[in-house]
Amino acid sequence: MKIGFIGLGLMGAPMAANLLKAGFALNVFDLKIGNAAPLIEATWSEEPAKNVDIVFTSLPGPAEVEAVSKQILRDAKPGTVWFDLSTNSPDVVRRIHGQCKAKGIEMLDAPVSGGTAGARSGKLALWVGGDEATYLRCLPVVKAIADEPFYVGPIGAGTIAKLAHNVSTFMVHTALAEAFTMGVKAGVEPLALYRALRQGASGRARTFDRLAEKFLPGAYDPPTFMLKLAHKDVSLAVALGKSVGVPMKAAEHALAELTEAMARGWGERDSRVHMVLQEERAGVSVRVPPEKLKQLT
Ligand code: NAD
Repeated sequence: MKIGFIGLGLMGAPMAANLLKAGFALNVFDLKIGNAAPLIEATWSEEPAKNVDIVFTSLPGPAEVEAVSKQILRDAKPGTVWFDLSTNSPDVVRRIHGQCKAKGIEMLDAPVSGGTAGARSGKLALWVGGDEATYLRCLPVVKAIADEPFYVGPIGAGTIAKLAHNVSTFMVHTALAEAFTMGVKAGVEPLALYRALRQGASGRARTFDRLAEKFLPGAYDPPTFMLKLAHKDVSLAVALGKSVGVPMKAAEHALAELTEAMARGWGERDSRVHMVLQEERAGVSVRVPPEKLKQLT
C-alpha cells in the first residue's frame, strides 16, 4: 500500500507522521519543503498522487484544494482513493468529486476535529462523506490518523457536519466572551467566576474546560488554529445557511466578530483572539495567571 500526503502544515505533518508510525510508505508534498523535515522516513515527491493507492490532502481551504485537485486529476491512476482532510466548501467538494469520478478516482470529504494535539496523538474525530464501501475498505489506514472516524453520508456530508461543528464552536466562544465580561465588570473575580460557571449544567461540558487554554491566560501566540482558518469556516457555514434558506443570526454575529479581528491583522494569531474585542468594548480584562490555571486540575 502506497500513500500520498499533500499539505504538511499544523495538522498535516503530525497526521502524516502517524501514517509513517503505522508502517505505511508515504510520498509527501507541501509548498514549503521545510515542513517535510521532521518526516524523515517519507519520500519527498513533486508528484505525490502518482502511483499511490490513497492520497490525503490537508490544505487551508477551498482555493488550495481546487488548485491541488488539478494535480491529482492529472497524476492519480484510476482506482486511487482521495481523502480530503481539509475543511472545505460542500459545493467545491461535490464539484471535484464529479471530476474525479469521471477519471475513476474516488474522492471522499473527511474533515477532522481535535486540533493539533489530536493530530499528534491520533485522538481525532474524522467525519466522512462519499462512497461508504470505499471508506470501509480504507478504514485500517484512516484509523492510523483518527481514533474516531465516522461515516456521515454521501459526498459533502462530512464537510457539512464539520461546518456545523465549527460554527457552533465559534458562536459559543462569542457568547462566552459576553458572559465573562459582564460577570467580571459586575464585580466577580475572573477565577471565581470561571470556577462557579464550571459547576453549572453547561459548565460541566467540555466547552468551558477549553477557556483555560487561550482566553483566560490571554495567550493567542503561537496559534494552534489560526483565525484566518476559523474565519473561512464560519464564512462557509453562513454561505451554506444562505444556500439552503436557513437564517443564522448568531452565526452572522460570530462572523462579524471574526471579520473585525481579521481587520486588526490578527489572521495568523489563534482563532480565539476575537474574544479580545469584547473585552475591549466592555473595558475589562478577563485574565487568570497561567500558574493559577495549572492548580485547577
Ligand atoms: P496550515 O496552514 O498549517 O497547513 C496547510 C498546509 O498546506 C501548509 O503547510 C501550506 O504550505 C500547504 N499548502 C497550501 N497550498 C498548497 C498547495 N497548493 N500544495 C501543497 N501544499 C499547499 O493549516 P492547518 O492548521 O494544518 O489546517 C489544515 C486544514 O485542517 C484546514 O482546512 C483547517 O481548516 C483544518 N483544521 C485545522 C485544525 C487546527 O487546529 N489547526 C483543526 C481541524 C481542522
